[in-house]
Parts: sequence; structure tokens; C-alpha cells
Amino acid sequence: MVLLQISEPGQSPEPHQRRRAVGIDLGTTNSLVATVRSGTPETLPDNEDRHLLPSVVHYEADQNISIGYEALEWAGRDALNTLISVKRFMGRGTTDIKTLGDQLPYQFVSGESGMPSFRTSAGDISPVAASAEILRALVERAESALDGPLDGAVITVPAYFDEAQRQATKDAATLAGVKVLRLLSEPTAAAVAYGLDQGGEGVIAVYDLGGGTFDISLLRLSRGVFEVLATGGDSALGGDDFDRAIAQWCCEQAGLGSDLDPQQQRQLMSAARQAKEALAEQESVAMDVLGWQGSLDRHTLNTLVDPLIDKTLRACRRSLRDAELDSDEIDAVVMVGGSTRMLRVRERVEETFKREPLVNIDPDRVVAIGAALQADVLVGNKPGDEMLLLDVIPLSLGLETMGGLMEKIIHRNTTIPVAKAQDFTTFKDGQTAMAIHVLQGERELVSDCRSLARFELRGIPPMVAGAAKIRVKFQVDADGLLNVSAKELTSGVEAHVEVKPSYGLNDKEVTRMLRESYTHARDDMQLRALREQQVEADRLYEDLSAALAQDGKVLLNEKEYHCLEVALDDLRNVRESSNHREIARHIETVSKTSEDFAARRMDASIKKALAGHSLDEIDKGL
Ligand code: ADP
Ligand code: MG
Repeated sequence: MVLLQISEPGQSPEPHQRRRAVGIDLGTTNSLVATVRSGTPETLPDNEDRHLLPSVVHYEADQNISIGYEALEWAGRDALNTLISVKRFMGRGTTDIKTLGDQLPYQFVSGESGMPSFRTSAGDISPVAASAEILRALVERAESALDGPLDGAVITVPAYFDEAQRQATKDAATLAGVKVLRLLSEPTAAAVAYGLDQGGEGVIAVYDLGGGTFDISLLRLSRGVFEVLATGGDSALGGDDFDRAIAQWCCEQAGLGSDLDPQQQRQLMSAARQAKEALAEQESVAMDVLGWQGSLDRHTLNTLVDPLIDKTLRACRRSLRDAELDSDEIDAVVMVGGSTRMLRVRERVEETFKREPLVNIDPDRVVAIGAALQADVLVGNKPGDEMLLLDVIPLSLGLETMGGLMEKIIHRNTTIPVAKAQDFTTFKDGQTAMAIHVLQGERELVSDCRSLARFELRGIPPMVAGAAKIRVKFQVDADGLLNVSAKELTSGVEAHVEVKPSYGLNDKEVTRMLRESYTHARDDMQLRALREQQVEADRLYEDLSAALAQDGKVLLNEKEYHCLEVALDDLRNVRESSNHREIARHIETVSKTSEDFAARRMDASIKKALAGHSLDEIDKGL
């Protein structure tokens, strides 16, 4: 018997076809891919039933590339051609990498647009290209599990990732041939995995300690919507640093110097890691590495890692302050990342938040699972099920204004997507172009912020200073990527730029910039006041000098003229002082002294304007 497919009128003849969508956790150490099948999210294993894919790529001269566990096996033998932790290099410039690296076993070369590449025997490989290999392997795994090509993927990034790093991640996906439905921050994905968007209300802390990054995020849930209240952390701190501490301890125990070659470094690091991971299950572990035999127990491990855990807890407290929350206002703590398997980490987190952290979803897989749930919605498999995801931008975005000041347009921790506009005006009479300098950072001075892009708005009709109305609009899309446009409203002249930042800012820099903005807040306020007064002083000086040159000799007697000249000189001298109140006082004096002169100029110009016109014309509003 043949079954006919019958559909109701108005509906599509085909039954709704499920689209193939995945969530990908592109990790520093390990990556995973997950999908929703029969309503349940699950991570997908390889042929040998392993779910984690080590984020490692090995290149051979004959273009043979191996990825994951296979590549990891090369790490000890062929360090220079085995790329690990490439995520740490995503979106960074050559100069950043120099500051990154204690003992990087790579040879870097500067590629296009200041982007660094790794020199391997298969040629120069960029971090984006290496990440693309990892993504491609995961996509292939998913396509064979799902029996067909993918419709799209949600890829997770640390909450800390700036514009350049997000863009680099997107580029990698493009290179791997997969459509990005959304870049989602990792803690947000973890919250989705726990179903925190369904039901409960309250504030949740997501503590994510992976191999290379630490993120703390505070989320508020209400009525099925959650919002990121604050993010913080240290994206150059993770399990790798624990391994390094253990490796160093081994060196001391074994009496080894610091002159290990890359191969030996890798061997030592991998032994350290194995020992650390074993200690999650047992009290003590035997070690045998580089000819040294010994043992490491939990107590020693704890003393080695405690300073690093302390660092994460300090970041937690800082984020609480940021969100203006007390630790007892946190309703749940979610643990994410392989390093939260360490009992010591769990203990210390519990101590800090005074509550037992949630560990019931595998901390390795929780991010990929949340991403898969989100992908399922975004690809359209759950019509009617609106999952509202609010994410935030990690650093404020703004513009350079007169006096080298940063004017914030979108403040950090603003939820995205977001669009904000602000009006600016011209500084000089007849100004026909305006330079727009887009910045990211928290500090008041441009020199302390990161420059993202510059562009010019040209063709402004000449007007007196302050008459033009230039509306600058900042738009941050759901992936956290920025678009800036400027428009002169009276003439409609427009300019716009898609901010594709030069590769360069590193996460440490983000952390530093944030920290500095707090420690320098008071200084910055003073400096801002000073710069504002200086701009005001300059404006007055320029205007009045021009007026004096033009009309001074005619409209003022010698004494008056001299008086104003002296006041102006004083103003110019005091402008260089670092006391904004002093400058303000002089501005006031000069303004007072020149009041009379201004009035006379006004009279004179009216007389001049009226000369030769009939009263009739004047009535019509000449
Ligand atoms: P990432 O997000 O950076 O890719 P993961 O979340 O996969 O990292 O975590 C990897 C880190 O977790 C590694 O440093 C690894 O050593 C550590 N890790 C995994 N299992 C354990 C364990 N049992 N005990 C301690 N650390 C572990
Ligand atoms: Mg992770």
C-alpha cells in the first residue's frame, strides 16, 4: 500500500523538515560539537566514542594534516609543527604575542595585516586557518552523524572576546565552510544548558575554568529571560597554568634547569597534566618524566594551585562589585570547564559563594550543549519557542572628542544587540569634514583606550561652529560586531564604516584596561575636567584673538585693547597649568573683560548688515 502524504490547505505540502544545526564549543584545549536529537541535546562522539576533540592541529611537509588526539601524539615529538592552544592567538597582532609568551614553542612570522602566523614545515599557518581545521573536523563529524550537510552552527566564544577575536572566530568558520547562526558567549551557553531560561528566577554565577581561560559571569533570570549582569575574569589563566606550576615544581624536585628544549617542555607539561587530572580521583600519583621519578599528592597540588585559584576568586569578587551584588544574593553557581573537576577548585568556590556549586551537567560538555539548544532555535526547528538571549559587550565603545577625550556611546555590559546614537557638532566655523575615531575601553583619555577604526565624514555644508548636527550611530549586532555610521542631519551627508578592527588587542589587555579604569577613575575625572577647560580656553583664545585682530583697533581704545591682550596672554599661560579650576577662573575673567567689546562688535555688525537694506527686507527676516 502506498501512503499518500496529505497536508491541510495552506500548509506546506512537505511535513516540517528538521534542519541540521549544531552547537560548537571551540575551546582552547578541547572542542566539542553537539546537536539536539529527539528533543534532547547531546554531544557527538568520534568513531572511538570520544566526545572531546583536543584543539590541536599537526602539519606535515606533504600537506598531511592531523587533528585532535592524533595531532596531540605529535606534540612531544614534533613541537614546532604541532599547534596547540591556537585560540589564545585568535585576533591578536604580532606585538601582542610577544607579550603573551613565557615559553612558546613556536616560530612566529608576521603575516598579512600584522596577523601572526606559525611557521611550520607545511608553510605559514595563521591561527584562523588552524581553528578552521578544528571546526572542519567537528562539522564532518556532525554531518556524518546527522546524515547530511549542516544548515548552520552556533559557535561559542569567551565572554571576554573583543571585536577582533570574535571576527577571527567568524573568519575561521567561513574558512571551514560552515554558516554561523550566532556567536554565543560560553557562560551564556552554559546557562542555557541548565535550562535557566525556563522557569526559575534569581541570580546565577557561571564559573568557567578551562585550559586557557577563566570567565566569571553573573546572570539574572526573570520570567524566562536571562540577562548578563556582569562579566569578568582572566582569559590568560586556566588549567595550563596549573600544569605549568606543577611542571616547575617537578623541575625543582628533579634539579632541572630552565633550558629545556620545546620537546622536553611539552613532555613535562603533559606529565604534569596527567598527574593533575589523576588527583581528581586519587590522593597521590606517581610521576616519571625526563628521567625523574617521584610522586605528587593532593596537599602539594593544593599549595601549588591555590595562588592561581585565588586569582579567579578575586575576579569573582570584582564582578560582584561590578554588578553591585553581595555574594549572598547569588542563587546558584554553575561550574563549567575541565578544571572545575578539581576538588580544590570546587571547595574554594563553595567557600567564596557560600553555596555548593552545580556540577550535575558534565562541565566539559555543558557549553556545547547550550550552544546546540540555541542553534536548534535559531535554525527554526522550534517555531513559536522564542528563546530570548541577552548578551553584553565586554568593553565600552565610543568616540574621540576634542581634547583627546573618549566619549562613551555604548557602555560596557550593555546587552546586545543594541543601537545608540549621539549628536555632535562642529568646532570651527566653516568646517566641512569631521574625523571620527572609534574607540573601545573604559578610560577617559583616548590614549588609554584602544583605537578600533577611523573614518571621515566629508561634505558637511559650511556653517558657523556649532550649527551642524552630526548624528553618530553605533550598532552592535547579536554577534557583538560593531557598525558605525555618521550623518549630518541638515544636509543628509552620510559616512559609515563596518568596524573590522586590526588584529591586536589581547585579553590580558582587556582585563588590564578594565582594572585601570577602576583604579584611575578619580584621576580620569580630574583629567577630563582639565581637558574640557583647556578646550574651552583654546576656543575663547582663538575667537577673541581673531576678533581683536579684526575689530580691536577700531572699536577699542588703547587701554582697553591692552587690557584684553594681557588677559588673553594670561589665559594662554594658565592653560598649560594642570589646574582646571585656575583655567576656569581665567576663562571667566577674559569673558567678563571682553563683554563690552563683544557688545560693540555686535552693534557694529548689525549696523553693517542693515546698511543698504530697506526696512521691508528686514521684516521678511533677512
Ligand atoms: P577549554 O575550555 O580551555 O578548551 P576545557 O574546559 O576542555 O578547556 O578544560 C581543559 C582543562 O581541564 C585542561 O587544563 C585539563 O587539564 C583540565 N582538566 C580536565 N579534566 C581534569 C581533571 N580531572 N582534573 C583537573 N583538571 C582537569
Ligand atoms: Mg571551555
